[in-house]
Amino acid sequence: MEVIVIGCGVSGLSCGIRLLERGFSVTIVAEQLPPHTTSDVAPAFWYPFKAFPLKRIQRWGQLSLAEFYRLMAVPEAGVSAATLVEFYPSPPSPSWWAGLVRHYEPIPASDVPPGYQAGYRAETPLIETPRYMPYLLARFGQLGGQVEQKRISHLSELVGPGRLIVNCSGVGARELAGDETVYPIRGQIVRVRQPGLDRQIVNALSGPALTYIVPRSQDCVLGGTAEEHNWSLTPEPATAAAIIERAQALMPTLAGAEVLEHLVGLRPGRNEVRLELERLGPDCAVIHNYGHGGAGFTLSWGCAQEVAELAAKVA
Ligand SMILES: Cc1cc2nc3c(=O)[nH]c(=O)nc-3n(C[C@H](O)[C@H](O)[C@H](O)COP(=O)(O)OP(=O)(O)OC[C@H]3O[C@@H](n4cnc5c(N)ncnc54)[C@H](O)[C@@H]3O)c2cc1C
Repeated sequence: MEVIVIGCGVSGLSCGIRLLERGFSVTIVAEQLPPHTTSDVAPAFWYPFKAFPLKRIQRWGQLSLAEFYRLMAVPEAGVSAATLVEFYPSPPSPSWWAGLVRHYEPIPASDVPPGYQAGYRAETPLIETPRYMPYLLARFGQLGGQVEQKRISHLSELVGPGRLIVNCSGVGARELAGDETVYPIRGQIVRVRQPGLDRQIVNALSGPALTYIVPRSQDCVLGGTAEEHNWSLTPEPATAAAIIERAQALMPTLAGAEVLEHLVGLRPGRNEVRLELERLGPDCAVIHNYGHGGAGFTLSWGCAQEVAELAAKVA
């Protein structure tokens, strides 16, 4: 069966790889290719954020976590173990995934910075997208996958006999699949020169302001924002200044770090991830896989596995 995957972000590439591994012939069709997708903007680390529903997220997240642990042994994938340190303004209830990640433990009150009341640390996979996205693309190509850069206006353009479409179009699904429940969750970040920080991700949650610091091998990413229904891809100077100020307050060694780049990405928000089969005719179907919010990497391999299982049932 011929499979056409729409989208060349982390969802499309992960699905493409799992489908090729099952023997399907796969072509990815996408308007934007790496390094120009939302996925390329993400810092990124395994962390379930703004993705639903919980029951499905738990399975997808767990399967993906296992795959990222495996990928830590593949140097070209750019996945490594990092310590995630998270601070809260008041004691939170334990995260559902506390038992999944390694070394999850509360942080003593004496180590919690001013303005916060509680914190924990855990080990989580850091997925360096400047290396990981090219790795996925290369792995897809090595397995025999084809890539075509093209915009699709509507799913009906691809309908054909004996064809399976996999829709991994992120926030583009709003137009492509006519799904008005998909909306952007705008994320602005600042890339600065690595000031010699350890592999320790700091995430501080306080009101609507997100503050995160993600040290990578070649740079350090400072974030961020999560602005629902904001479609602007233009970095806002005032937002960038506030991001830098909050990050420096948490980690004074960042003071004076050279700014390399300002970036914006639109997370695909939805009340729940849409992963389901839809028949488009007697001999053509689409599997939708979009709406992963702030957790597209965190859920990628679990969702790709489910897409491949559905595809095998249809074939
Ligand atoms: C600042 C920021 C930080 C983040 N941090 C994390 C993190 O730490 N961990 C994590 O798990 N997630 C994180 N995320 C979320 C994650 O990046 C997204 O959930 C993920 O990138 C979504 O991937 P996707 O492949 O579904 O969509 P995208 O990466 O948006 O890819 C969509 C693809 O579909 C194509 N497309 C869309 N419409 C059409 C069309 N009409 N015709 C043809 N092609 C089309 C696009 O061109 C693109 O190739 C972050 C996001 C941002 C913005």
